Amino acid sequence: MQTHNLGYPRIGSNRELKKACEQYWAGKISQSDLLNKGKSISEQNWKLQLEAGIELIPSNDFSYYDQILDVSLTVGAIPKRYNQVAIQSNNEMDLYFAMARGYQKDGLDITAMEMTKWLDTNYHYIVPEFYRDQEFKLFSNKIINEFVSAKRLGINSKPVIVGPVSYLLLGKEKEDGFDKLDLVKKLLPVYIQILTELKAHGAQWIQFDEPFLALDINEKAKEAYKYVYAEIKKQFPQLKVLVTTYFEGLKDNLALATSLPVHALHIDLVRCPEQLDDVLNAIPDQLVLSLGIVDGRNIWKNDFEQSLAIIKKATDKLGNDRVLIAPSCSLLHSPCDLDLETNDKTLTPEIKQWLAFAKQKIDEVVLLKTLASETPDSNVLAKLEENKKAISSRRTSRLIHNEQIKQRVNSIVARDSQRENPFSIRKKAQQEVLQLPLFPTTTIGSFPQTDEVRSWRSKFKKGEISPAEYDNLLKKETEETIRWQEEIGIDVLVHGEFERNDMVEYFGEQLNGFTFTKNGWVQSYGSRCVKPPIIYGDVNRPEAMTVYWTEYAQSLTKSLVKGMLTGPVTILQWSFVRNDQPRSVTCNQIALAIRDEVVDLEKAGIKVIQIDEPAIREGLPLRKADWPNYLQWAVDAFKISASGVKDETQIHTHMCYSEFNDIIQNIADMDADVITIECSRSQMELLDAFADFKYPNEIGPGVYDIHSPRVPSKEEMVRLLQKAKAVIPADQLWVNPDCGLKTRHWEETKSALIAMVAAAKELSAN
Ligand code: GLN
Ligand code: ZN
Repeated sequence: MQTHNLGYPRIGSNRELKKACEQYWAGKISQSDLLNKGKSISEQNWKLQLEAGIELIPSNDFSYYDQILDVSLTVGAIPKRYNQVAIQSNNEMDLYFAMARGYQKDGLDITAMEMTKWLDTNYHYIVPEFYRDQEFKLFSNKIINEFVSAKRLGINSKPVIVGPVSYLLLGKEKEDGFDKLDLVKKLLPVYIQILTELKAHGAQWIQFDEPFLALDINEKAKEAYKYVYAEIKKQFPQLKVLVTTYFEGLKDNLALATSLPVHALHIDLVRCPEQLDDVLNAIPDQLVLSLGIVDGRNIWKNDFEQSLAIIKKATDKLGNDRVLIAPSCSLLHSPCDLDLETNDKTLTPEIKQWLAFAKQKIDEVVLLKTLASETPDSNVLAKLEENKKAISSRRTSRLIHNEQIKQRVNSIVARDSQRENPFSIRKKAQQEVLQLPLFPTTTIGSFPQTDEVRSWRSKFKKGEISPAEYDNLLKKETEETIRWQEEIGIDVLVHGEFERNDMVEYFGEQLNGFTFTKNGWVQSYGSRCVKPPIIYGDVNRPEAMTVYWTEYAQSLTKSLVKGMLTGPVTILQWSFVRNDQPRSVTCNQIALAIRDEVVDLEKAGIKVIQIDEPAIREGLPLRKADWPNYLQWAVDAFKISASGVKDETQIHTHMCYSEFNDIIQNIADMDADVITIECSRSQMELLDAFADFKYPNEIGPGVYDIHSPRVPSKEEMVRLLQKAKAVIPADQLWVNPDCGLKTRHWEETKSALIAMVAAAKELSAN
């Protein structure tokens, strides 16, 4: 039995890579400084895994930006628009970052490659671009160089690369007239060349990540799998090829996956523990099975007893020699090191004992092997006892379990997720109270979070300014924002969200059942990292969370002020969640807390309340068969949060930056009175979907992109609105930007919103 790892976080335990990259991009450090930083992170990671006792240590899991972009560079899938960069800079790294981030220099202005979410994670990869005349050639030697570097440290590593079939499936055809899977014959020779070189340098193993083997794939993809791995076997009969799958079970691809002529197959037993029996039944003689048993996607300590039972089941059937032990997936999705969490006020010792980050997960993998295979010494047995204690303390802790909350979730009935009357009746009641004009204008919630506003918060947190001072500063900022919106004639105002650090953290900090880390960063894309809250216990709301600021803002004006909340699905989706109860249960607990807040806002006289759900689409399961169940509970959770109010209270929701076409029915089922939605990047294309389907409620298609400082003209927005008017009845239309304005500056925000209000006026005059 051997231990291995699929990949280690590369950001550095203090986000060293982020800082170095950003300094390099700003021209503050040289390329060799950056390369040295990257090298030292890789070496530290290798040494850490070596010292922990991992037997097969990955290499090429390090990346300066993204591992899929690395493959594109490796196999020379470099879109032609970057030719000039290659010529002008003659430098692989500059070319690489140009592909990732675009290039504006020396008279060139070249767009970046597209970025999208990595399967169902919050990590984003750079989407490969394929063209009809696509050729591949070995362009970058990164994978070989990394293997050689590890070897210099005495480590015969296991190089990691996304397999050829998944690589093609992750990409996008940029022209019509061909199928990306047909490129496999051209692509494979480059992989073969890589393997030839790795072998020449003494590599014995190779890890091909093939997550699509655990997804819904067509016949053509299945054929590609058979072809690729048969060819590799033919040319490298001795090489130990490990094919990995994760985030889902093999399910209908079981026969295919177990029939590939490879040395070992990795399965995710955290996401899909029930596949073990099927795999053990189907597995042919010789094939080695890698058990993904330590959760690479979450922060909970492994339950050793449970894992040991799984290992035993596998070794009983296969024997020790045919079993590998590993985390479920790359640890890229885990924070680095729990030992760095030293502030026991934010993360109490009781909670901390339940957690494991990447470094601790590596130790768990090694300990599991020791416990499973040898006659364990007293030292190791003590660790098992310690683990049992931690696991059982979590099972029973009063910090986690609150009977009242469980009761309340259990007694949710159908009525709780329904407004009193259907939309057609609510619409009339709302119009009477709200008296809104045709094409009402609003914004999505946040106004610019200037450096000044951020500095107040940081001073307040450090105790450098008093709570009262902080409060006054925020009040002044809020008041100015209200006054300005009144002045330019926005119909439904917002308070600006200046008191909020982040739309999930702000609520998590006020809810029971949440905790936070100081350093639990996880890479989101490139140098961007996020620090998700940890939901450890039953969630409830000890007191009102937003009433103070919303009420204050409303007290300043006779205009309508919209209350602003984050929805239950989004809070769930952007946190580390409990693994001791279904996600749907946690989501319902959050939904009830938000429901109470909505009701309190209504009591405080707020007549319009927005519940943001930008993450509802990204929660969709990877397998289509699981969609209906998810959509059922997710939509219900939203409705539970929204349905505690009277007909005349208008509920908005907001969504952005996702592909909504295939869940439009479910969005309609959410039954928000108004949905504001990002649209302008696609020039209102999205609206066609809403029109085809006859979206029944009101809708605010974003009329300008908030990601750019560019100020759109009134005419531009009028044109977009006319497009919208052509497919959606005028009395259903709202006018608003694409998303929140917190990343913008005031200057451009003001010009853009003035033009937006003018556009709405012009439209209603015609
Ligand atoms: N209300 C939030 C804001 O305006 C919405 C952000 C989002 O959709 N991500 O900032
Ligand atoms: Zn948004």
